[in-house]
Amino acid sequence: MNGRQIRSVVIVGGGTAGWMAAAGLAKSLEGMGIRIRLIESGQIGSIGVGEATIPPLMDFIRQLGIAEDELVRDVKATYKLGIGYRDWTRPGHFYFHPFGPTGPGIGSIPFPAYWLKMFLAGKAAPLEEYSIQAVAATQGRFTRPVHAPNTPLNKITYALHFDASSFARYLRGFAEARGVERTEGEVRRVSLRPGDGFIESVTLESGESISADLFVDCSGFRGLLIEGALETGYEDWSHWLPCDRALVIHSEHAAAPDPYTLVTARDAGWQWRIPLQHRNGNGYVYSSAFTSNDSVEDTLLANLGGQPLGAPRELRFTPGRRRKAWNRNVVALGLAAGFLEPLEATGIHLIQRGIAMLLKFFPDRDFATADVERYNRMLEFEFSRVRDFLLMHYTQTERSGAFWEHCRAIPLTDSLLEKIELFRSHGRILREDTELFPVISWLSVMVGQNIIPRRYDPLVDSLDPHKIQAKLEELRAGIKGCVESMPSHWDFVHRGGAGAGRTA
Ligand SMILES: Cc1cc2nc3c(=O)[nH]c(=O)nc-3n(C[C@H](O)[C@H](O)[C@H](O)COP(=O)(O)OP(=O)(O)OC[C@H]3O[C@@H](n4cnc5c(N)ncnc54)[C@H](O)[C@@H]3O)c2cc1C
Repeated sequence: MNGRQIRSVVIVGGGTAGWMAAAGLAKSLEGMGIRIRLIESGQIGSIGVGEATIPPLMDFIRQLGIAEDELVRDVKATYKLGIGYRDWTRPGHFYFHPFGPTGPGIGSIPFPAYWLKMFLAGKAAPLEEYSIQAVAATQGRFTRPVHAPNTPLNKITYALHFDASSFARYLRGFAEARGVERTEGEVRRVSLRPGDGFIESVTLESGESISADLFVDCSGFRGLLIEGALETGYEDWSHWLPCDRALVIHSEHAAAPDPYTLVTARDAGWQWRIPLQHRNGNGYVYSSAFTSNDSVEDTLLANLGGQPLGAPRELRFTPGRRRKAWNRNVVALGLAAGFLEPLEATGIHLIQRGIAMLLKFFPDRDFATADVERYNRMLEFEFSRVRDFLLMHYTQTERSGAFWEHCRAIPLTDSLLEKIELFRSHGRILREDTELFPVISWLSVMVGQNIIPRRYDPLVDSLDPHKIQAKLEELRAGIKGCVESMPSHWDFVHRGGAGAGRTA
C-alpha cells in the first residue's frame, strides 16, 4: 500500500462500453476495496446498435469466467466465422474474409508464400478453400474447436453475432453481482478541481453529487467528460473514411441464420445482414454526400430478405478518434473515444482493448504522465491500424459510380501504402506490434479485392513444387472432410452448443 491508491471509480454511461468496463474492472479489481459506480440515464438511452464481434471477444468472455453457452442462450446470439463480401470488388463478385490462422507452413516457408506461388501459376485453388472457417461458413456449418490432433478442427476460430444492448444487459447482471453500484440519473454538471483541472465530481439532475478518483467516460458520441468537460479534441477522419450515416432496421428470418456477416456493396456505401437467433439485423452505411436518405431507405427495404420489423432508424456519425483517449483522470471508452465504421466490426473490440490497456496501466492518484502517454499511444496505434484496414477496403475496388470513384481517389496513409507495396512486390504481409488484424485478414481482403503480387517470395523456390502441390491438396481435402463432419450452424445453436458436434 503506497497510500495513493485509487479508491473510487465512476463510470458515466451504461451502454455496451459502460457495462463492459464495469464487468472488466469489477473482475480484475476484486478484493482491492475500490468502489465502482456506474451512472446511466434511461431517459437518454444507449445507441442500441452493434451486432457483430470478432474473435478476441471470446477471450474477454472467458476472462470474466462467463459460461459461453449460457450467454449465447441469454442474448440469442449466433456464431460468426467471418465476413462474406458480396459485389464489393465488382458487381457479381464474392469473397470471404475468414477468422482463424492461415494454413501451416512448410518448414520455414509460411502458407501465404507457397500458396501465392502456386496461385500465380494458376495451380492453386481459391484462398477460401484453405480456410476451415470460410468453407464451413459458406456451407452453413459450425462447431467450436474439437480436440482432434493434426486437423483444422483444433483451431476453429469464431466470434458471436448478438445485440450489443442485450450483451450490456447481461454484463450489468455480472457487474452488479460483483459489487458495482448502479445509479439511474442524468449527469447535468461536471466539476473540475481547481489547479489541475482534473474531474472532481459529477452532479445528477436529482442534485446528488458523485465524486471519484478515476472517471471512465462511456457516455457515447457526446463524450460528456472527455470532450464536454475537458475539451480534449477530436480527430476527424472523414477524409479517409467516407461514410457518415447508417440506416438500420431489424427483419424476420427468411432462412436459417448463416454463421457469418454478409456485407453487400451498394451505390453509396454498403449494407450488412447479421443473423441473430430471433431476427436479422440490417443496416445501410453510407455517405450522405453521395445519396439521399430516401434512396437509401428504398434500397435497404428492398434487400432485407425477410419482413421488416419496425421502421428504419437513422444514425449519424463522424469517423475519427478522440485526440487523447485518456486525459487527466478521465479514460474514454466506446463511442466517447472515437468511432470507426462497422465494416469489420471493430467497435466492441476497441472497447475491450481500452479496458485491457487501462488495467495494464492502472493508475494511482498521481496519474503518472508516462503511463497516460503510453496508453494514448497504444490506443492511437490500434485505431490507426483499423482505419488502414477499412481504408484498404474502400480504395481497392473496381466498382463504378461517383461514390466508389471518389473512394479510389482517397490518398492512402503511409502505413497502408507500405503494406500494399510490400504485398505487391513479393506477397509479404507483416503484422506489427499490437496490430489487430492477422495475416489471414490482410491476405483475404487483398486477394479478394484483386491486389495481386507481381512476384512471389524467392525463398519459396527452396521447396519442391510437387511437395507444395501435395501439401495444398492435403489441406484442401482435410478441410473438406472436417466440414462434412460438422453439424449445421442452426443445429449447433439449437442444441445449446455444449455437446453439439463433438464427434470428430
Ligand atoms: C451504425 C452502427 C453500427 C455498429 N455496428 C457495430 C458492430 O457490428 N460491431 C461492433 O463491435 N460495434 C458496432 N458499432 C459500435 C457499437 O454500437 C458501440 O461501440 C457500442 O454500442 C458502444 O456504445 P457506447 O456504450 O460507447 O455508447 P452508447 O450506447 O451511446 O451509450 C451511452 C451511455 O451513456 C449514457 N449517457 C449519455 N449521456 C448521459 C448523461 N448526461 N447522464 C447519464 N448518462 C448518460 C446513456 O444513457 C448510455 O447509457 C456500431 C455503431 C454504429 C453507429
